[in-house]
Amino acid sequence: MNLEFLPPPEACATALAAVQADPLEPGAEAEAHLKVCRACAETRVFYLAQEESPEVLVPAGYFSQLPDRILRKLPARTALHRRMGPLAWATAAGVLMAVGAGAFLAGRANRTPYVEATLPRPAETLEIPVPDTPFHDREEEAAQVQALSPDEMKALLKRLDPPAPTSPR
Ligand SMILES: [Zn+2]
Repeated sequence: MNLEFLPPPEACATALAAVQADPLEPGAEAEAHLKVCRACAETRVFYLAQEESPEVLVPAGYFSQLPDRILRKLPARTALHRRMGPLAWATAAGVLMAVGAGAFLAGRANRTPYVEATLPRPAETLEIPVPDTPFHDREEEAAQVQALSPDEMKALLKRLDPPAPTSPR
């Protein structure tokens, strides 16, 4: 049994013929059938989608002149370099140079800061004398010790030795 070639029912056939003739207004009888038959309603939708809609009429040259018309509606504003003459540019440059030179000279004139942070230093750090050459004197002393005679060396060692602890007994 070949279902593909089964003819549609007679009501569907008449409705489809009406839809093919005019999908937008197939007639009252076809409209009544389309409300109850889903297949014919879908077919009508397909026919309606294939209908060519009339093109929207636009004036000739609408899209080609669109950028110009938009630009004409924008507020007219000339560029800055056209509004300012050469004399104005020269004046602005002179003002900038004067400000720069003034700032440079002011920085050179005031090298010492107006306010300097000071901390009260502890007294002991100020009282420690710091020799200019810390290691030089000690080397000289070592050389002096080496130059001593044996008797003088003994006397020096005796003087440097701490006194022996005296035992209580
Ligand atoms: Zn039908």
